[in-house]
Amino acid sequence: MHKIDIETVEMTLDVMKYAISRITNNAPELGQPKKEEELKALVGETITPEGIGGEKAFRLFRDILIRATVPIDHPRHLAFVPAAPTRAAILFDLITSASSVHGAYWMEGAGGIFCENRAMDWLVSLTGMPEGAFGVFTSGGTAANLSAMVTAREAWRKSSGQVGEKGLILTSIGAHSSIKAMARVIDVDLLQVETEDRMTGQLLGQAVDALAPAQRRRLFAVVATGGTTNAGIVDDLEGISEVCRRESLWFHVDAAYGGGALAADSVRHLFRGIEQADSVTIDPHKWLFSPYDCGAVIYREPELAREAHQQEGSYLDIFQDEGARGFNPADYQIQLTRRLRGMPLWYSLATHGTDKYKWAVERGISLALAAGEMISARPGLELVREPSLSCVLFRKKGWTPEQYVSWTYRNHKAGLALVTPTKWRRAREVETVLRFCFINPDTTEEDVQMILDTLGD
Ligand SMILES: *Cc1c(COP(=O)(O)O)cnc(C)c1O
Repeated sequence: MHKIDIETVEMTLDVMKYAISRITNNAPELGQPKKEEELKALVGETITPEGIGGEKAFRLFRDILIRATVPIDHPRHLAFVPAAPTRAAILFDLITSASSVHGAYWMEGAGGIFCENRAMDWLVSLTGMPEGAFGVFTSGGTAANLSAMVTAREAWRKSSGQVGEKGLILTSIGAHSSIKAMARVIDVDLLQVETEDRMTGQLLGQAVDALAPAQRRRLFAVVATGGTTNAGIVDDLEGISEVCRRESLWFHVDAAYGGGALAADSVRHLFRGIEQADSVTIDPHKWLFSPYDCGAVIYREPELAREAHQQEGSYLDIFQDEGARGFNPADYQIQLTRRLRGMPLWYSLATHGTDKYKWAVERGISLALAAGEMISARPGLELVREPSLSCVLFRKKGWTPEQYVSWTYRNHKAGLALVTPTKWRRAREVETVLRFCFINPDTTEEDVQMILDTLGD
């Protein structure tokens, strides 16, 4: 394993060369998915008793397989929530792998966890949560939401004594799909306030008042969204926090996508009330320019998370040395063995400074505003609602859902752009519309015009 031959050196250089050329390429080719059988026919068997050799495997990846993927950092990838990791962050992702650090416990990971914690200090400061609030990096928003919901449920069981009772969570239909999915994982019921628009304290209050006494007893948490994935809408966090305080409910803010906007002075006021949260989810791999995968969960009282998540085992009981005692990320979320996934963010923040992050997030917001103006200036197009954070919903007048879909495929096939339709719900009506989500600060106004040009007049 440790003897390095000339072939290994050449292989390493090839891989490094590829990595360098990829991270300096601002507009990588927009790849296309292919059927698994097609890919198999193209590359043949890759796992064999003798091995096919690193050189060949790498060539197959570089020449065939990577072309069947869509680079999320392409400047005209405006679908879903794209991403645009900084070069510094990607380089440090390589270092994170090369360093082989176990990120569960301070004893083994101190130096790396120290880096993560400095990046976490900054995230916590963005929320304005009080002294003592702290968090950990997770594999993403789903794991962060799950970790927070488990903590909320355990705290409720303990304080209410309702150990055998099935819990209930309130959220809105604008909430991300992972909330429903994680409610299933922890076997609690979920009720959704019927609005895809901003959930206000008043709407939430009405939903709580409408509960039957037996349901009200089971209600333990509210999940508000700090930037809905579909439309960038920030719920009325201040109003919701008041309802939660009055009703003694856990207040979770899912800002997986929108959390980056806490750094942007132009929209920070929309998040007023987030400082009152019991827990907050922010995904650095969405709008804080980290490579996949990197989410984060922050707790107002980390001690409650530790009570819910700390694992016990005789093999985990060896922290005698003073230096070995410290912050153990494994105690605050669902994973034990973990990658130090906050390290790339730390290095990138240290390299660029937080002002650069502010600038890059503001750029996404101003691109959304500019796109809104371009759309309004075209007679065939129409905004569905004003842009919010970096999301823009708009329609091509008279188009059917099928027309949107074939337009998407046409642009993707042409290698021009990836922009996908979505649905927007108002009252009982559901409409298929188009959506832009801007993350990459290298996207230009010309990129947006180029895409709009393909929609006709
Ligand atoms: C993307 C997203 C999630 C899920 O995050 P993953 O990192 O994909 O697991 C959760 N909530 C919101 C609001 C999101 O936008």
